Amino acid sequence: MDLAANVEAIQRHITAACTRAGRDPRTVQLMAVSKGHPPEAIRAVADTGLTLFGESKIQEAKVKIPQCPSRLHWQMIGHLQSNKVKDAVQLFEMIQSVDSLSLAEELNKRAEQSAKTLPILLEVNVAGESSKFGYGPESVLAELEQLNSLKRLELHGLMTIAPYVQDVERVRPFFRKLRQLKEQCEQQLGAPLPVLSMGMSGDFEVAIEEGSTLVRVGTAIFGERTYTRPVASQD
Ligand SMILES: *Cc1c(COP(=O)(O)O)cnc(C)c1O
Repeated sequence: MDLAANVEAIQRHITAACTRAGRDPRTVQLMAVSKGHPPEAIRAVADTGLTLFGESKIQEAKVKIPQCPSRLHWQMIGHLQSNKVKDAVQLFEMIQSVDSLSLAEELNKRAEQSAKTLPILLEVNVAGESSKFGYGPESVLAELEQLNSLKRLELHGLMTIAPYVQDVERVRPFFRKLRQLKEQCEQQLGAPLPVLSMGMSGDFEVAIEEGSTLVRVGTAIFGERTYTRPVASQD
């Protein structure tokens, strides 16, 4: 598989989607989602110039990240259990998957112990799917002030995983809804939230047309996921 060609093709599609939406391509970050792929594949993708990587399992990230170039930037995009928060604070520069106040409080506590300030996104389950984690749109607004008052966390924006559908046009309303929710949050906080993390391999172009500032692409860069997690894994 020619990973460099894959990255280049995605970058072309990102630029085209930006052009359609009248946006500057520099306002969209491309994250390579490397879960399920070994360090060798990650190094090959890093060689194309990408530096932002996403992982979704602490146990897997803990083994892989030390084997990757130290110049890479790592963000957590998977559901985080409170007993893994300590590791998460050490491994990641941003947690995109904050889905409850209690998790935020635990992250705040651990960040304080590490003398760090930790950027976070709130994960929103915009379609209300029971199979997915994330805040319901109303509870985001209800808990926003409390979340924002946690001194060691910096709220940078919202993240969502859209429902899986055959016709990508059907996810457009969910992306639009997340953007509108971000605007409501900004109004309530009286401050801008710079990050709208939405769009994956199958739907990143629509997400960009609807305002995404960070697309999380796995399969379209790396191919199908093959890596089996370490046997010792407990998550
Ligand atoms: C796996 C994953 C992705 C990437 O999905 P692909 O369809 O492989 O691009 C993006 N975001 C999250 C939260 C994921 O878990």
